[in-house]
Parts: sequence; C-alpha cells; structure tokens
Amino acid sequence: MPATGYALEKALKRYFGYDRFRPLQQEIVENALANQDVVVIMPTGGGKSLCFQLPALLKSGLTVVVSPLIALMQDQVESLRNNGIPATFLNSTLSRTAQRSREQAILEKKVKLLYMAPERLVGEPFLQFLDLIQHEIGIAGFVIDEAHCISAWGHDFRPEYRQLQILRQRYPQVPIMALTATATPRVRQDISQQLTLQNPQVHVASFNRPNLYYEVRHQNRNSYNELLQIIRQEGGSGIVYCLSRRQVDELAEQLRNDGISALPYHAGMTDEDRRQNQTRFIRDEISVIVATVAFGMGIDKPDVRFVIHYNLPRNLESYYQESGRAGRDGEPARCTLFYSYRDIKTIEYFIDQKPDPDDQRIARQQLRRVVDYAEGTDCRRSIQLSYFGESFPGNCNGCDNCCYPKPVEDWTIEAQKFLSCVARCKQRFGSNHIIDVLRGSKKEKVRRNGHDRLSTHGIGKDKSKEEWRLLARSLIHQGLLEETTDGYSVLKLNQASWEVMRKQRSVFVVVPKEEKVAASVQSSEAREAGERLLQELRSLRKTIASEESIPPYMVFPDSTLRLMAQKQPQTTEEFGELSGVGEYKRQKYGDRFLAVLRAHKQSQASQKPKNRTPNTSSTHEITLELHRQGLSVADIARERNFKESTIADHLAKLLAAGYDVDLNRLISPERQKAILHAVDVLGVSFMKPIYEYLQHQYTYNEIRWVMSWYSSQRSPKQSS
Ligand code: ADP
Ligand code: ZN
Repeated sequence: MPATGYALEKALKRYFGYDRFRPLQQEIVENALANQDVVVIMPTGGGKSLCFQLPALLKSGLTVVVSPLIALMQDQVESLRNNGIPATFLNSTLSRTAQRSREQAILEKKVKLLYMAPERLVGEPFLQFLDLIQHEIGIAGFVIDEAHCISAWGHDFRPEYRQLQILRQRYPQVPIMALTATATPRVRQDISQQLTLQNPQVHVASFNRPNLYYEVRHQNRNSYNELLQIIRQEGGSGIVYCLSRRQVDELAEQLRNDGISALPYHAGMTDEDRRQNQTRFIRDEISVIVATVAFGMGIDKPDVRFVIHYNLPRNLESYYQESGRAGRDGEPARCTLFYSYRDIKTIEYFIDQKPDPDDQRIARQQLRRVVDYAEGTDCRRSIQLSYFGESFPGNCNGCDNCCYPKPVEDWTIEAQKFLSCVARCKQRFGSNHIIDVLRGSKKEKVRRNGHDRLSTHGIGKDKSKEEWRLLARSLIHQGLLEETTDGYSVLKLNQASWEVMRKQRSVFVVVPKEEKVAASVQSSEAREAGERLLQELRSLRKTIASEESIPPYMVFPDSTLRLMAQKQPQTTEEFGELSGVGEYKRQKYGDRFLAVLRAHKQSQASQKPKNRTPNTSSTHEITLELHRQGLSVADIARERNFKESTIADHLAKLLAAGYDVDLNRLISPERQKAILHAVDVLGVSFMKPIYEYLQHQYTYNEIRWVMSWYSSQRSPKQSS
C-alpha cells in the first residue's frame, strides 16, 4: 500500500489530475489508510470528497459513503465515473433490475465506492447484504458525509442519521470518517459522540475562504442597477437569494427583461419545475438562478462566480454557508450582501411569531450579529471568523472594508465614556441601555435602576444613537469589550477595556463614508490568457458536456480551461501535465482540446498582435486604463460599447477613490476653479445647488468630477 507522500501525490495526479494536496487532505488520507477514525471539518469547497475518495481507491474492499441527498449522490458518482473511477449508488429511484446488477457488480469487485442514503443503509435487507460484502470482499470504511445532520444542534438535523450508530456496533473493526462544513464546536462534539468514534483524528481547516471577495451595499433605489452591473461584470454563473417567493419570481423576470438568462427557484414551484431549472443552471444553459434559501443544499456546482443576497440573511452562519456556495473551485468569486432596515423589520416580525421566548431571544441575538456584520466597518473576514471562534488578523485585502477603507477617527474619549458607563451599570446591561444612559434618557428602565443619578448619565448627548452603536460594535470587534452570547447580549469589560479607561490605549473607529467603487478580486491572468481562446475552449466543453449529458464542469473545471488558455499545450504529454487533467481524461478528451489549441496557435502566428485590452481587474479599471492611454470619454464609451454617462460615472468613482485620473484632461483648470469656488460656498453635499449657482453653465458630469476629486483630497485613503 503506498504510504509515502510521493506515492500519494502520484496517485492524486493519476486519478484526479491534481498536482498537490490542499491543506489537510494528505494527513486525512494517511489517517484513513491507517484505518483510523477521522473527523473532517472543512468549509465548502475545501476539498472534502477527495479525503475519502482517494483512500477508497487505494484500499482493498468497498467504501460505503452515506449521503443525505439523492441529487448530491448522483452528482458525485457521475463525477467520479467521469474520472474513470468505479463508483455507484443505490437508492429508491432504481428499478429492481438495475439494483440487482449493481449489487452483482459490487460482489464482483467492480465497484470501489458505494453511495447510499442513511435510512436505506441501516434497513435490515441491506445490512444482510453488507454482511455478505464484508465476508466476500471486505468493507474498507464507512464515510458519513454532511455529518452535522446527526446533531440536533445543527441547522439541518435528520433523525435517520441517528440510526447510523448501528454501523459501529455491527462492524466494530471498520473505520469511520465523518465530514462536515459545520463551524460550531458543539456540533463537532456531537458527531464523535453519536457515531461512537474511537480516538478520532480531528482535522479542522480554517474557515477562511481566501478566494471570496465580500462586500455589503445599502439597499436603495439604485440597488437593482448595481445588481445588474455585478451580474454583467462578473459573468459566469451566479445565485441571487431573496426572502420571499414573490420577490424571486419578480426579480427573475425583471432580469430576463434586461437580457440576463435567469430562472427562479423556490418552494412554491412544482418539483419538476425546480429540478429542471436547477439542471439548466448546473449545465450552464442559464447563468443566474434567483432563489429562496431553499436552493443550494442539493447542488454541488463548483464554478459559481457570485452569490448575491438581495435581502438580509437570518443569521451569520447561514450567510457564511450560502455565500460559501460561490467559488468552490478555489477561483475568485464575489459575495455581495444588500442590506436594508426594512429587512430587519421583516425578520423581527417573523421572530415575534415564534411561540417560544427562548427561541425568540436567540433568534434576535443572531439577527444582531448579522446587522453587526452588515454595518461593521472592520474587515468582513475578521467579523465572520470571530463568529466561529477563529481569530483573523484583518487586512484581508479581499473585502470592501479592507480594499476601500473608510476614514478612521480617534474616539478614545467617547470610548472611555462608554466603557465607564458599562462599569457604572455594573456590567449587567446591553448596549441599548448604556446608550440610553449616556444620552440622558429618562426612560422607566433607566430611572428604576437609579441610572439617571449616575455620573455618566447624559454625558454623551453630543453623539447620536447611531454613532454610539457604531462605537459599541467597533469596540466588540476590536476586542476592547465583550458581549455575552446567551441571547441577552450583556456587555462585559475585559483587560483591554480597563486599559482604555486608564488612558493606556487609544481607540480608533472607522467612520462610514458614502460611496465605494466596485471591484472584485479577479485574476489578471484570466484576461491575459486571451478571452477568445477561452471562449472556444468553453464552447468545446459545452459540446462535449451535452453529448455526454453531464454538466460542463465535469468535463474540466474552469481552472483547467484557463490553464489550457495560458499554457497552450501542443502535445498530449504537455496536455497531461495541466492541473485537473488525470490519465483518464487525457485519453478521453485530449485530442479534441488539442485540436482547438493547435488551431489557435497557428492563427496567432499568422496574425500581428493587435492592441489588446489591458490586464485589469474591474470595469472601472478598464476605463481608467483607457483614460490613461489618452482616450476621451466618448472614445472610451465607443470602445467599450457603454453609454457615455456610464464612463463618466466610472471616472467620478475613480476620482473619489483617489485614483490617478487626469482631471485637467476632463475639464480645463479655469472651469475647475469656478466649480471649486461654488463648492467652497455651498459645500459638497448636493450637486443641484451648485449647478444652479453656476447658472447652468457647467454640466453635471463636470461638477461631479470636481466634487469627487475634491472629496478624495479631503479624506485621503488610510490603511488601518
Ligand atoms: P467540498 O465537498 O469540501 O465542498 P469538494 O470536494 O467538492 O469540496 O471540492 C471542491 C473543488 O475542489 C472540486 O472542484 C474539486 O475537484 C477541487 N479539488 C479538491 N481537491 C483538490 C486539489 N488537491 N487540487 C485542486 N483541486 C482540488
Ligand atoms: Zn477584509
């Protein structure tokens, strides 16, 4: 049995086409080969499947995989077969004959991995068959996928998972591997206990997903346009989540009217319609699925490029899981959350309907954490990961707060006021009460506790409720204040709080600013590789996928197509070296892809290189690049096939964000002066008064550019 790292890497390449293990995969595979019980906690897209699939191939006997959803099961089996790996499933959709022949194949050792639903696995008829397997060919291991389903503490409890206990009782020698993407420690513990695992090796991967870009936008009149812009800009497949079925239907239709191929998905549709829309999405026949949260559990599409929450999610864990459906393939993807006060009210309304006050309390606290996330000004990753008990240093360079930092202000004195008020209230109250006291409220609750007589009563009238809330949140995110997690959210002081009060530590708070320029992390190689070749490779992939009735990503993932476009291999050997091309696929698809690659190379050789679009990462930056090359607004608009107003808007945002736009080329210095004079007189809040003041002699674009430039000068970018 191969046990060395080198041998394992060779097997990885041979069966799956990958050059390297992802973090933890190798250790887990080694544990499995040593017949140990293992618990694997990895975020979505971390590469869990490989952890049990590779050992299954290398060990003798059959590996039995428990999976909760028939759709997922079929998907995985299909994907394995497409790598030339003998896998099969048994479930209730099969005819008796199909069932028989699969059982026969298992006994003839023609199958390495068998997928099953839990209730069927533990039924007496199958257990008898399992005895036979054990006796004839041996059971290499049991794999419990989505293992959090066994825990009532999880968000997706399935009672039938409880019956899996019988596996350990009946086959005590067979090792068990349990896998989940659940982040909470409570559930992890439950999994080991319920399955009676023996000294399991527990592997917990970081829940950070570095390839995802996180951003939050305010829901307003312009949101639909922003949504549309994101969809167009990102290209590829995406999911848009809404709160209600009606919204789903309406939004899907609106998008279709705007030329986006979008379909709805929600519980009000027939099973058949839902299934059909899902399949069309997976096969890249449509690009966007608009859905309620019902969508996602059963799908395994690795190349989702964006997930947009058009409404506020119920809690941060759901947000993490739902947004995490983006970029499973490790390629850059974008997660956008639109946030509005109205959504908070809607969710609060649902919470009020809950009969159990304890449930209400917990739900309310969960909602507060989502609001904290949305309104937070610290690194989004830090906020998310701190929710899961993982500490992250911030400055991730992959979220709106890190990429477009808002100005920081010194709020040490305010922090001292706030913290001493917490102290005077004996650390027994939540932030709303503290703020009431600071702002000198005469509420009954304040008077009843005698807090209207505290020295801190009314010392914070100069700041609004909102500002105090902002401070409280920031103190918590920065670890300068604690909050209990029992649903009561009582504020508690810690060591750092006292340091602030003793003037040993300053407090800086990020103060929100209005606009942000949209740009996501996108690899520049993608564009470098030549969009046209990539298009040709994609369309070949699509053709092959329809010939074989499988989703395109099963032929090759996006990353492999991109490598093809970059490296442009010309021989079968070179082709086989690409990450994602295993032995089986090289033989099966190599010639057809090579034909496209060779034809491309030849056509390149006979053509002179043309002025290419620059390597850029966002639509704004393409505009910027063309501007730098000396093109006028009208020229850029023509070149990019956009309206002039769109380009003008890009330039304004770039100016506001402090990019190097040559203002003198857009407006003459004299005209700038006149506008600046008006700005001086009237301030930078509104354009209309300035337009009026200048007696309609200057265009709105000109005014806007100057104002944007002006505001960027006043609030220079700071790195926090
Ligand atoms: P999970 O089940 O944890 O969500 P998957 O097992 O579906 O994740 O893997 C996510 C993606 O990563 C898949 O497209 C898979 O092929 C790919 N992948 C897994 N392991 C590797 C690896 N070592 N190198 C490159 N890609 C990998
Ligand atoms: Zn960040």
